[in-house]
Amino acid sequence: MSPPPILEVADFLADPVVAADFPRTILRFRNDSAASEIGLQDLSDEDWIRHFGRFKPLPDNLPEPLALRYHGHQFRVYNPDIGDGRGFLFAQLKDQSGRWLDLGTKGSGQTPYSRFGDGRLTLKGGVREILATEMLQALGVNTSRTFSLIETGEELHRGDEPSPTRSAVMVRMSHGHIRIGCFQRLAYLKLDDELKRLTDYALRTYFGSASSDPVELVRHVVAGTARLAASYMAAGFVHGVLNSDNINVTAESFDYGPWRFAPVFDPNFTAAYFDHAGLYAFGRQAEAIQWDVVQLAGALRTLADVDALIAELDRFPELYRQALVERFLWRLGVHPRGLDEDIRLVAAIEQALIGSQIPIDHFFFDWAGGNLRGDDTPYAHEAFSDFRTRIAHYRPARALDHPYWAGDPCSMHIEEVEAIWSPIAERDDWSALYAKVERIRNMGAALQ
Ligand code: AMP
Ligand code: MG
Repeated sequence: MSPPPILEVADFLADPVVAADFPRTILRFRNDSAASEIGLQDLSDEDWIRHFGRFKPLPDNLPEPLALRYHGHQFRVYNPDIGDGRGFLFAQLKDQSGRWLDLGTKGSGQTPYSRFGDGRLTLKGGVREILATEMLQALGVNTSRTFSLIETGEELHRGDEPSPTRSAVMVRMSHGHIRIGCFQRLAYLKLDDELKRLTDYALRTYFGSASSDPVELVRHVVAGTARLAASYMAAGFVHGVLNSDNINVTAESFDYGPWRFAPVFDPNFTAAYFDHAGLYAFGRQAEAIQWDVVQLAGALRTLADVDALIAELDRFPELYRQALVERFLWRLGVHPRGLDEDIRLVAAIEQALIGSQIPIDHFFFDWAGGNLRGDDTPYAHEAFSDFRTRIAHYRPARALDHPYWAGDPCSMHIEEVEAIWSPIAERDDWSALYAKVERIRNMGAALQ
């Protein structure tokens, strides 16, 4: 196999680090569906733990883990002191289609970028990331996957969890881990040659392009992130921390901390308790992500024609609107009828959901295929009148013969997240988590 591509840029992008030596390694979750994409599904549990709990290098892969260097805007304030402070890139493997996939960690120990942090992840944080990624994947969002979760037997102290709390190390799988903040760091340090090399690397590795034009990179990132923002809205998802160091140039959603699914369509709904101004509220996510992409273009401005960069940035709103229509219609399971008409349908859905405060997941479930199934009572609300007139013209795009459609909608609100966590915390009972993952995957199959 060809060497991991990160080695082309590691000299200025990463630092070799050593994983923490954990007192225990108890396997809690292995994602065999993700593992089968990179040929690792046949590992025994023992070998799995050796690689993803003890971080013994995979054969012919990175000889030592690499902590990536980056800066970023956090809540719009530039921070040059961040970087992989509790994670590293462990390995890169090709999938069947020849696409490189990264295995990156969270909670694997301290690095030169840990500052005052312990480099650890709480077990609850790991469980929450499993739930977020499984749900988002099922809802058609371009997300990292939770590949592995191993409990590590340490006691951690955190302000936002009853402490001491249990520790874990997680491995995530995603196409890439090059954040907007990686480019910002190089621009901040005025490392123009390295900025060029990283641009080349990103275009070649993630977009299969032979170009080294920063304008082309921004074009890809604008398209991907506009779509990501739209898919959060259709999923009813609030990421919570849309800082520029948490936005990947591949536009894969990742790094799930204080995320929540909005129970009802409330644009002001926030996820992070520390987001006092509502900067990353449900309805402001497109604006927040676009702002981050502007920082990418800003970082590349010394290498490119500024007017050309601005022209790419200006395409974000239109691409966002197109993607919003595509994602809403996909979730509803109806065929498009043309952008203008579809935009009005989406507006009518938003108006109905805001006006009625009906749970988002119930609405999409009850109206799957464009015809109301089940109880009409909630939909007699006047907020639905425009929607009902419009939806009558749409044709179903999905057969509803999957058993999922005969049951209840699968959702992921905070009460249920806590209810899944409680038996784990109280009596080490993991059955609710595994049952939920199965149910989410069942929904994913129904939405195919
Ligand atoms: P996040 O808010 O998770 O995106 O993290 C922002 C920055 O803080 C990154 O540089 C992280 O690596 C770092 N960080 C977060 N938690 C810890 C921790 N427990 N130990 C060390 N670094 C951390
Ligand atoms: Mg982060």
